[in-house]
Amino acid sequence: MVNRIKCYLPLLFLSTYSNEEKITLPNGRISNVYTGLFINNEFVDSVDRKVFETINPATGKVITSVAEASDKDVDLAVEAAANAFNDVWNHVDGKERGRLLNKLADLMERDLEELAALETLDNGKPFYSAKTYDLPSAISCYRYFAGWCDKIHGKVIETQHDKFCYTRREPFGVCSAIIPWNYPLEMQAWKMAPTLACGNTIVFKPSELTPLTALKVAALCKEAGFPKGVVNVLSGFGPIVGAAIASHMKINKVSFTGSNAVGKSILKASADSNLKNVSLELGGKSPNIIFADSDLDQAVKWAHMGIFYDSGQCCCAGSRVYVEDSIYDKFINKFKEHALNIKIGDPFHKDTYQGPQISLQQFNKIMSHIETGKKEGATLLIGGERHGEQGYFIKPTIFTNVNEEMTIMQEEIFGPVVSVSKFKTIEEVIKKAHLTKYGLAAAVFTKDITRAIKISNELKAGTVWVNCYNLVDANTPFGGYKESGIGRELGKYALDQYTQVKTVQINLGIQM
Ligand code: ADP
Repeated sequence: MVNRIKCYLPLLFLSTYSNEEKITLPNGRISNVYTGLFINNEFVDSVDRKVFETINPATGKVITSVAEASDKDVDLAVEAAANAFNDVWNHVDGKERGRLLNKLADLMERDLEELAALETLDNGKPFYSAKTYDLPSAISCYRYFAGWCDKIHGKVIETQHDKFCYTRREPFGVCSAIIPWNYPLEMQAWKMAPTLACGNTIVFKPSELTPLTALKVAALCKEAGFPKGVVNVLSGFGPIVGAAIASHMKINKVSFTGSNAVGKSILKASADSNLKNVSLELGGKSPNIIFADSDLDQAVKWAHMGIFYDSGQCCCAGSRVYVEDSIYDKFINKFKEHALNIKIGDPFHKDTYQGPQISLQQFNKIMSHIETGKKEGATLLIGGERHGEQGYFIKPTIFTNVNEEMTIMQEEIFGPVVSVSKFKTIEEVIKKAHLTKYGLAAAVFTKDITRAIKISNELKAGTVWVNCYNLVDANTPFGGYKESGIGRELGKYALDQYTQVKTVQINLGIQM
C-alpha cells in the first residue's frame, strides 16, 4: 500500500498560466488545479503574496500550495461582489440566474470524475462516495435552486379598502459563506446555490484544509458565464479571512457551517459590526433510538452508516445509539461485527469504506476523546487505535457502559467513535436523548408507526429519521434546534435565509 500511495503522489509542474497547475490524480486523471484567489473572475495572488500548503490526509504529504487571503483580499473581493451586484447581477432576471446555475451543474456533471478525484485527494473521503454521493448531491442542489430563481416572489396583503399592499423578496446584496472541510463540494452547493438563486453575489470561503474543489468550481462558474464579481472564492485561514468576513461592514449576510465556538464568534462579530444576517449550522450529538420491534438487520446497517459514514465526520452523525434492553445483546454483536468488517485505507481503492480523518489535529483530538472515554469508565469494545502507518486513519471505535455525564456522551467527537447504551422505556430514552446542548438530528427504529410519529414529535431535533439515517435531499430543510444552529438550509425554507422582505404600502385615496 505504501508503494502504491507513493506512485499516487501528485506530479506537479507549472502550466503556462499563473495560479494554475496540472496535477496527476491518483486515479490517473490529470486535473487543472487552481491555486489563486478567485476575484472578479480571475485567479490572482493574495495581496501579501502568501501561500499555504494543502495536505493529502491519506498520506500526510503536501498536494500543493494555494494563495492565503488576508483582510485586504476580503476587501477586494467584497468590492468586486458589491460592484457586480449593483452594476449587473441585481438587474439579471430569475430565468437567467436559473440558466447559469443549470449550466454550472452541467459543467460539474461533465467534470464529475475529476472533481470527485480532487475531492478525494484533498479531503480523503472514498472516491466511490465522492463520485456516487457528494457530486450528484451537489449537482442536484444547484439544479434545485436553479428551479427557484424565477419563482421567488412576495404576496399581496389585503389591508384597507383604499390601500394596496404587497411584499417583495429582495436579495441582501453581498453575502458570504464560510464552510468546513467534511463535505467541501456539497457545502459549497448548499450555500452558493440559494445565495445566487436569490439574486445575491457571494464571497465564499472554503476550509483551509480543503480549498481545491471550491477553486475548481469557481473556474466552472466563470466558464458557465457568471458575470465577473458575482462569485468570489478566498482560500485562507478562519481566524484571519473568516473573522474579516464576519466583521466586514459591507457584507450583509454570513452563512456558516462549522463548530459551535466559531459560530458563536460569528454572531458576536455581526453584533459588533453591522448586524449582518447570520445563519448557522453547527455541531450535533445525535441520538439514534432502536426499539425491540425494529428490523434488527436494517437497524444495524443504518446505525452503522449513521456513525461511520465519512469517517464519522458528519455534523449529524448518530454518535449516541440507544437500544431497547431486550435486544441489546443481539444488536451489539451484529453492530460490532459490521464495524470490524469495515474496509479502511486508500480512499482511491474501490472497496474502501472509510478513509482517513481530515488532519493530524483532528486525529489527535479524536484519540484524546477516546482516552477520556476510557478514563471516565466507559468500556472500549473495539477500536480506539490508529490504523496503518501513514495518514490519519482511526479504527471504528465502539464504547459501551456509558452514561450521559461522560464527556464522550456530551461532546461532538467528529470521528468514527460511537457510544451504545440500553434503555427500558420511551420516557427514559426521550429524556436521555435530550440531555445534550445539541439538537441537529435524531433517528428512531420501530415498526410501530404510532410510536414513530409520537417520538418524532417529541424529539428536539431539526431532522428526525425513521427507520433510516443520513437521508438529506436538496428539497428537504436541514438545520438545528438548540445550540445546533439558527436557520434552515435547503428546500424552500432556504429562500428565507437569502432574501429580505420589503413591504410596499400604496395609498389609493385614504385622506389624512
Ligand atoms: P471544524 O472544527 O469543523 O474545522 P471550524 O469551525 O473550526 O470547524 O471551521 C469551519 C470554518 O470556519 C472553516 O472554514 C474555518 O476556516 C472557519 N473559521 C475558523 N475560525 C474562524 C473564525 N474565528 N472566524 C470565522 N471563521 C472561522
